[in-house]
Amino acid sequence: MLLKSILNHVEPLKSFVYTQARFVEVAGGEPCIEIKIEPRANGRAICSGCGKKRPGYDRLDPRRFEFVPLWNMAVFFVYATRRVQCSACGVIVERVPWSDGKEQLTTSYRWFLARWAKRLSWQETADAFGTSWDTVFRSVKHAVFWGLVHRDLLDIEAIGVDEIQWQRGQKYLTLVYQISGIKRLLWISEDRTEQSLRRFFASLADDVRAGIRFVASDMWRPYLTVIAEQIPKALHVLDRFHIMQNMNKAIDEVRRGEVTQLERDGYEPILKHSRWCLLKRPENLTDHQATKLAELMTYNLKSVRARLLREEFQRFWEYASPAWAGAFLDSWCSRTMRSRLNPMKKIATMLRRHRHLILNWFRAKGLISSGTVEGLNGKAKLTTRKAYGFRTKEGIEIALFHTLGHLPEPEFTHRFC
Ligand SMILES: [Zn+2]
Repeated sequence: MLLKSILNHVEPLKSFVYTQARFVEVAGGEPCIEIKIEPRANGRAICSGCGKKRPGYDRLDPRRFEFVPLWNMAVFFVYATRRVQCSACGVIVERVPWSDGKEQLTTSYRWFLARWAKRLSWQETADAFGTSWDTVFRSVKHAVFWGLVHRDLLDIEAIGVDEIQWQRGQKYLTLVYQISGIKRLLWISEDRTEQSLRRFFASLADDVRAGIRFVASDMWRPYLTVIAEQIPKALHVLDRFHIMQNMNKAIDEVRRGEVTQLERDGYEPILKHSRWCLLKRPENLTDHQATKLAELMTYNLKSVRARLLREEFQRFWEYASPAWAGAFLDSWCSRTMRSRLNPMKKIATMLRRHRHLILNWFRAKGLISSGTVEGLNGKAKLTTRKAYGFRTKEGIEIALFHTLGHLPEPEFTHRFC
């Protein structure tokens, strides 16, 4: 039958043969395709314990291993596993090349599901191929573990340290990205303590750690401490993305305070629905938001003043020399300190305190791309948000590594998707 020749092409087996393919109709159920497998006449079984060829002992009842579906029908390999008599491992089942251990899915099908789970959500993948969320999860987990074991961690010149919130903002994860060469997620730890980041450095070989020349991070104190302690020679940059993120939080705090104040004073709620027009850059505003902003500008609102301070600060990033950038930073901070906007004053204090690390941005210019951490952070957030099923830390870790880890895959005879 032709199906067998196709299988020999896409999933060739050395010591086994496809003997029979049949279409199985199940009363009241979905039809499926079953393909029988037999060992070659002279092929000796391989012990699953030690990987050596061993004499046969007996055969177990036929088992079904799910393969990549065809024409929206489930495909199963049917095979009666042999047990071997191994001098080292005792009586034990053989190793088969299409699956490992007690897994009911063939290895090809697991990689197939894992690949689709990058394009679709895990639930969509499960629905599309008539399987369960849990099966997709286990397939992705398998792919991630394989990738983590086989990835290459040499030549990491620049890293970015970032944090994301999960469980509705109740908990934090510390993420470390590689931001030079391959841009990928390298590490995930629970929390955002010194220990969270120290674990990352402890996982690296000495020469890899010594090879890190640049590190970009947030102003978060525990990170600053550990970076100074672990890679003192690397140029440490407080990156643009995190600084502007902090500033946006401050603007939002000013706005929220002001909304409450205005309501208390009996003014009409002019600031309602103004969040995005205050936070967005001018070029990203919709027409409606631009009109709203123009209207807000006519009032001498704290929110508007906070926003103007941020817009002015954007000029900072355009300087070429650290000296001029430093002069600008100082004058901006002085003005902000006189602004009577407490959240913004806090930002100015923070910027002053970390002046040196912020100016490192200009010393590393061109070597670290500003968009990289931001881009990876955006994808990480999207992954955690999309992933309703991830209530556990393990689930979220697997999802993040799967999406952002740039993990290697084994070589296959055929790519099913
Ligand atoms: Zn053995």
